[in-house]
Amino acid sequence: MNYRHIFHAGNSADVVKHCLLIALVRAQQHKPGALTLVDTHAGCGLYDLDGEQAQRTGESTQGVLQALTNPNPLLNDYRAVVQAVNVGAELQFYPGSPRILAQLLRPQDLLILNEKHPQDAYTLRGAMRGTTAAVHERDAYELWLAMLPPRTSRGVVLVDPPYEQPDERARITATLAAAHRKWAHGVTVIWYPLKDRATHGQWSEQLRKLGIPKLLRVEHWLYDGDQPGIYNGAGLYIVNPPYAFTQVLPPLLEALRAALAPEGHSGEITTDWL
Ligand code: SAM
Repeated sequence: MNYRHIFHAGNSADVVKHCLLIALVRAQQHKPGALTLVDTHAGCGLYDLDGEQAQRTGESTQGVLQALTNPNPLLNDYRAVVQAVNVGAELQFYPGSPRILAQLLRPQDLLILNEKHPQDAYTLRGAMRGTTAAVHERDAYELWLAMLPPRTSRGVVLVDPPYEQPDERARITATLAAAHRKWAHGVTVIWYPLKDRATHGQWSEQLRKLGIPKLLRVEHWLYDGDQPGIYNGAGLYIVNPPYAFTQVLPPLLEALRAALAPEGHSGEITTDWL
């Protein structure tokens, strides 16, 4: 396990993932019933963007910094969760999905976090001190199934791996199939990187074969054409997206596309049902 999220915290992929996560949880919270939020690959929870590792890549300048300076009110909820972990207007810290989800919790909601890397799990425990979150240090796929069905019946599972293992997609496909059998109406979000337009559809075909009735695919292409050898964008598979979420999604995606488009590019965000 070599991947460390500190090098990528607050990049454009984090902005899209975290904006959609906020909208998804908020849509679920239209009803008063309790939610269980499970983050299978939680990372460190909070990242110092002034630190040497984050500064080395500078990825947040094309991500959270663009979102913070963009005036679109549809990004207000996202800006608020970032500002909540900073003092004043200065951006120093970036909240990972654990600290974002913790901010969204109502008294009746539960938050279950999991991180396998021992050092990151230790940092995560520190970052979540004072919250009600439960922190586990297990294998993500084992924990994902062990937590289902959750006690609260409704909830959201976020699956956000680094894709450094060659069998990561196969493990997600197999675990999603088993998870769907245990919790057919559950909401699940799976993040994935986009390398190029030629190969991006292959995994979707395997997921389509699972026969999950409501599986939404959202893909964010940063550049107008493939840039060889670099990260070209990211996607999210969303199982059972609530209606209230799909209603707010198109204008939110347009706001994100416009806010994150690199200079000289328009970028593109596409959605379709598998
Ligand atoms: N979800 C976080 C966020 O949005 O702020 C970022 C998570 S980062 C992309 C992926 C994390 O998964 C890393 O911290 C890595 O150590 C952890 N990880 C990798 N393989 C894992 C596994 N099999 N089980 C649990 N955690 C794992």
